[in-house]
Amino acid sequence: MTDCIFCKMVSGEIEPDVVYETDDVLAFRDLNPQAPTHVLIIPKKHYSTTNDLQPENAELMGKLVLAAQKVAEIEGLSEQGYRMVLNCNEGAGQTVFHIHLHVLGGRCMQWPPG
Ligand code: AMP
Ligand code: ZN
Repeated sequence: MTDCIFCKMVSGEIEPDVVYETDDVLAFRDLNPQAPTHVLIIPKKHYSTTNDLQPENAELMGKLVLAAQKVAEIEGLSEQGYRMVLNCNEGAGQTVFHIHLHVLGGRCMQWPPG
């Protein structure tokens, strides 16, 4: 996707503040952090929303969660806890249409989320 900002991060056209990377996923700091730690984890392959996922993408989505576990370790959040958020479509607050897992931590989290 040539006009996707997150694809441009994967291609190197835009340089994010990278926290962690594997062959399949890229984790970088959110531009507008909502917590002391706010990292986005994206699959390097473009999928607009979770509605586009197929059964064969299950392993990839598992890799996103494992990357979140790693990011939490890097950020020192494993014990105190962290929140993972996946917004799907505008009604849920999705603004960038390339799947991304938010990892938030370093402050007390409220429930239910807004
Ligand atoms: P969502 O609202 O779930 O689609 O989340 C999109 C997130 O991407 C927001 O938290 C934005 O702050 C973040 N974001 C948008 N542009 C950039 C960028 N260039 N670098 C890092 N984060 C970004
Ligand atoms: Zn993309």
